[in-house]
Amino acid sequence: EIILAIETSCDETAAAVIEGGRVIRSNVVASQVESHKRFGGVVPEIASRHHVDQITVIIEEAVEQAGIRLEDLDAVAVTEGPGLIGALLVGVNAAKALAFTLDIPLIGVHHIAGHLYANHLVEPLTFPLVALVVSGGHTELIHMEADGRYEVMGETRDDAVGEAYDKVARTLGLPYPGGPHIDRLAHEGEETLTLPRSWLEAGSFDFSFSGLKSAVINTLHNARQRDEKIPVENLAASFQASVIDVLVDKTIRAVKEKQVNHLIVAGGVAANKGLRAALKDACGREGIQLTIPPLHLCTDNAAMIGAAAHVQYQQSMFSDDRLNGNPGLTLQSKQVQS
Ligand code: ATP
Ligand code: MG
Ligand code: FE
Repeated sequence: EIILAIETSCDETAAAVIEGGRVIRSNVVASQVESHKRFGGVVPEIASRHHVDQITVIIEEAVEQAGIRLEDLDAVAVTEGPGLIGALLVGVNAAKALAFTLDIPLIGVHHIAGHLYANHLVEPLTFPLVALVVSGGHTELIHMEADGRYEVMGETRDDAVGEAYDKVARTLGLPYPGGPHIDRLAHEGEETLTLPRSWLEAGSFDFSFSGLKSAVINTLHNARQRDEKIPVENLAASFQASVIDVLVDKTIRAVKEKQVNHLIVAGGVAANKGLRAALKDACGREGIQLTIPPLHLCTDNAAMIGAAAHVQYQQSMFSDDRLNGNPGLTLQSKQVQS
């Protein structure tokens, strides 16, 4: 089947055409990052306005690049939540209008299900598996026994990893979004500072990154007061080392606890070179199959929403005309029933 997928949960306006859940016929992403940069983060009103400006053109482009006509579509999928309400509504309304006009099913997709299914575009998921989700708003370990089944093993108790990256980057005077800049600097520096690792209680799969973020800010502040200079590369390297240590350790423990053989990684921070290398090492050592999407499928896109929608299409998990943007949507509420 051919699905048109739409994603407008945050600051990228995206549309894609996906065939059979795995073939990307087109994948168009318009990033608004330049418009938000001078504010140091995403401004919701500006995001909504850009989505309204862009959505029609982006959908037309996705359909044209796929070499299909609208009549060839079997369903329209859209990110239903979580995300910014004003931003979500632009995508949801566009999808509803199209599904209604073409008289085809409408599929509301959870944004994180999308991030997870980006992996399915790379290689077929083999169940059971464990997923590490590391994005701007989420840090979670998820156990999946089958398509569309999500058991959250642990999650962050405060900041998401991407959020910690962006806040630390801001303190270091780096442009938004800061994740990629810290990643680059970390590779030029060395771990000269031992920053805290937040392990939480023994056996916990939860995360906490706000203490680490504060430690970086305090270290910088104290050094400035003493007129000392800490090379920004070393601060970046030390921060990244702490993040990666905890992420990799807990992820491998989760894989062992669930006795699975496949680890998938999802979300914008999966683009991090240090994390990719460390997971590759650890999985190589432990004999675990590792899938990490290429960079353009790690950050927000609509192809991943189409891949997740395919599972719902097969189960006839359709939405009706009451579909609405839902900033607090839970993954559990979108589970495929077994
Ligand atoms: P969510 O998916 O939780 O709703 P989001 O959609 O805003 O949040 P993503 O687009 O998945 O998040 O990821 C964006 C985040 O990824 C930003 O915080 C950004 O700094 C971070 N990021 C991107 N590339 C890298 C990198 N190389 N290293 C670290 N972080 C990165
Ligand atoms: Mg984004
Ligand atoms: Fe995202």
